[in-house]
Amino acid sequence: MRIHNVPPSAALSDPGREYRASEPGVPLRCCLRKSLPDEPVWLFRYSPDAGKGPYAEVGPVFTHVDCSGEPSLDRLPVELLNNPRILRSYNAAGQINDGGVVEPGSFDRAIEELFNDPTIETLQVRSVSHGCFYFAITRA
Ligand SMILES: [Zn+2]
Repeated sequence: MRIHNVPPSAALSDPGREYRASEPGVPLRCCLRKSLPDEPVWLFRYSPDAGKGPYAEVGPVFTHVDCSGEPSLDRLPVELLNNPRILRSYNAAGQINDGGVVEPGSFDRAIEELFNDPTIETLQVRSVSHGCFYFAITRA
């Protein structure tokens, strides 16, 4: 699989982005881990690529202001998957297909099952409580 994170440069396209000098414990979409107290972050509007037309969604995400992390993009980021998450599948036309809540420890199996459908192009991982986008997954 291939993981797709969000670069901090994406914040620059949102004129309403907010600078937070200290916002510990938020899920960083750049490094795919939780923030530490001394790490300045952006909070901004972001629309993931997979959803198109009426399925395009905009929501809040955090990234570092200056990111020095280099997350492994060929395996799941365990620090963001220690709680149940929403997993949604999208076809090439950008329409939502199947989706559901996945428990920690079950992500590999759930991802494999969704990708067994050849019409599925992208998966999105989101929070259960707020629905916020975390990262996307495609086939390697
Ligand atoms: Zn980062």
